[in-house]
Amino acid sequence: MKRYCYNEEHNLFRESFRTFLQREVVPHREVWSETGITPRELYLKAGAQGFLIPQAPESLGGLGIDDFRFQQIGAEELGRCGESGFIPFLHSSIIAPYILKHGSDFLNESYIPRAVSGEVILGVAMTEPDAGSDLAGMRSSAIDRGDHYLLNGNKTYISNGINGDVFVVAARTDAQLPHGISLFVVEAGWEGFERGANLKKLGFKSQDTAELFFDNVKVPKSHLLGEVNQGFKYLMGGLVEERLICGLWNVGVAEYAFELTRDFVCERKVFGKPLAQQQNTRFKLAQLRARIDMMQAFGDTLVEGYNRGERDSVAASEIKLLSSELLGDVVDEGVQLHGGAGYMMEYPIARLYADARITRIFAGTSEIMKLIIAKSVLDG
Ligand SMILES: Cc1cc2nc3c(=O)[nH]c(=O)nc-3n(C[C@H](O)[C@H](O)[C@H](O)COP(=O)(O)OP(=O)(O)OC[C@H]3O[C@@H](n4cnc5c(N)ncnc54)[C@H](O)[C@@H]3O)c2cc1C
Repeated sequence: MKRYCYNEEHNLFRESFRTFLQREVVPHREVWSETGITPRELYLKAGAQGFLIPQAPESLGGLGIDDFRFQQIGAEELGRCGESGFIPFLHSSIIAPYILKHGSDFLNESYIPRAVSGEVILGVAMTEPDAGSDLAGMRSSAIDRGDHYLLNGNKTYISNGINGDVFVVAARTDAQLPHGISLFVVEAGWEGFERGANLKKLGFKSQDTAELFFDNVKVPKSHLLGEVNQGFKYLMGGLVEERLICGLWNVGVAEYAFELTRDFVCERKVFGKPLAQQQNTRFKLAQLRARIDMMQAFGDTLVEGYNRGERDSVAASEIKLLSSELLGDVVDEGVQLHGGAGYMMEYPIARLYADARITRIFAGTSEIMKLIIAKSVLDG
């Protein structure tokens, strides 16, 4: 589908990021799946070309580009390159904004320039073994000890958990207030900070996902993000970008899975003619094409709204919900149309099938998205 929302500058950015991914990422996908991690140097290479946190102001080493279309292009192209371990949009579009928006000058100057260059890799630690969807139930605590907070607790399923250098950590700062949570910028090297093993997963094989443990970590007062007990509000605000960017990325992955399947059915012969000539194949691909185009149009509209200053949390939940379901259908039909080949890991569609499953769970499950949408429809 022709898209009218980009100018020449966007197209050049897309072209150069695509070239970067084809050169630095795609040839190594299989090896990284085996090792369970992507090399840290990839962030340095991406940073050197200006692909990390482009929205950061020039004074902090960024490009000062606050047009969200550049981040949209980044997420779409990452999706289309089929690599799930290297996900710089998590670093750039989800975590850096917490520091940029709520961090003091000190925190921004300490971390953003090195995150822009790729020297520092960012992570966000909200989820706990007993608190995922219900974030207000988190137990990690940060006790005020005068000149510092004493941080204790466990986090789990943390992306960039092994490679990450600096984490935005959510912890309870008021035991009485249900939402008495604050956010802290915590360095992995601090005493009392420990990482668990790289977790074995169904998909996302090259993405390092780990538990993090905090045992009496002394967090200087200067590392509190924004105001005390406002962390829950900041997290809910940040989830708008997180869900929007996940939705845009889902569309990119769906596009890639669609193209793989289209190419396969054109090559594969069944009963003496290409599989693409079977009516079932044509109908399935037609239906998926129409749904991908529609989702892309929805994404473009939300990005346009975002650029105009509208931060619509319900619409972000809608695209997260629908795009992850669409992606699930595209990879499922893709595997089916590949036949036995679709079940073989040497065919990328098999890996996409495993990778796609998480998109209905992380960044808020589909059920949580439905709760948010239903609340806006029914409770005003
Ligand atoms: C690969 C991966 C990467 C991740 N990366 C990060 C990260 O970087 N940082 C981070 O903080 N977290 C991360 N997560 C955690 C992720 O966000 C959580 O797993 C997710 O929010 C769900 O929480 P949970 O696992 O505790 O499931 P639960 O909350 O226990 O949910 C279990 C089931 O119950 C359903 N459910 C829950 N509440 C309701 C309700 N009120 N009504 C109806 N159904 C409900 C859920 O939808 C789900 O189906 C990651 C997870 C994975 C798997």
